[in-house]
Amino acid sequence: MKKGRIIIISGPSGVGKGTVLREVMKADPKLRFSVSATTRPIRPGEVDGVHYFFISKEQFETLIANNGLLEHAFYAENYYGTPVKPVDEALEQGCSVILEIEVQGALQVMQRRPDAISIFIAPPSFEELGRRLNGRGDTAPEIAARRLQIAVSECALAEKYQYIVINNTVAEAAEEIRSILTAEACRSEYRKIHLKEEE
Ligand code: 5GP
Repeated sequence: MKKGRIIIISGPSGVGKGTVLREVMKADPKLRFSVSATTRPIRPGEVDGVHYFFISKEQFETLIANNGLLEHAFYAENYYGTPVKPVDEALEQGCSVILEIEVQGALQVMQRRPDAISIFIAPPSFEELGRRLNGRGDTAPEIAARRLQIAVSECALAEKYQYIVINNTVAEAAEEIRSILTAEACRSEYRKIHLKEEE
C-alpha cells in the first residue's frame, strides 16, 4: 500500500487555519489530523484527546526524553509537540496526516522528514489580520496587538515553506490546498511506485 504524506500547515494566529483545514478535510476521508500534546491550560469548549492532549510539564519532558515527539517547541510560555507514534501509524495505513504547528516545530519536521509537504497560510495583509484578530471578540486589544507582532515575525519565515496559500476566502484557500495535495500526489516519484504495484 502507498504510504501517506506528512502535511505541515503553519500560519499566524487569526489567519483562519482551523476553518480552512476543516473545509479541506471534509472532502478527503484519507486525511488525518494530528492531535498535539501541550502544557497549556484547556480552554472552554476544548476536549482532552480531541483538540490536544493536555499534559503536565513533567509528562511533556518525559515524552521528549523517550523520543516520543516528532517535533516540539516552546511557544507563548507553553510546550507544544507532535506525538510521533500516531503519525507513523497513520502514514503506514496510507493516510496523510496534517500537522497544524508553529514555525519552529515546522522547521524541525522539514529537516527530519524531507518528504513532508509544507504549506504556510498567510493573511491577505497585516491590516486584514489585525481586523480579524480584533473582531474575534475573545481577545483583549493588547493581546491582539501582541499577536499581530508575532504574526509579522512568523510571516517572515513563510519562504521556508514549499507553498504559501493566501487566505482571501476560506473557499479559495481550501481549493488551493486541495490543488497542492493533488499535484503532490501526481509527482513522478510517487506515481512510479504506483505503476510498479500495478505490474
Ligand atoms: P493554541 O494555543 O492557540 O491552540 O496554539 C498556539 C500555536 O501552537 C499555534 O500556532 C499552533 O499551530 C501551534 N501548535 C499546536 N500544536 C503544536 C505542536 O504540536 N507543535 C508545535 N510546534 N506547534 C503547535
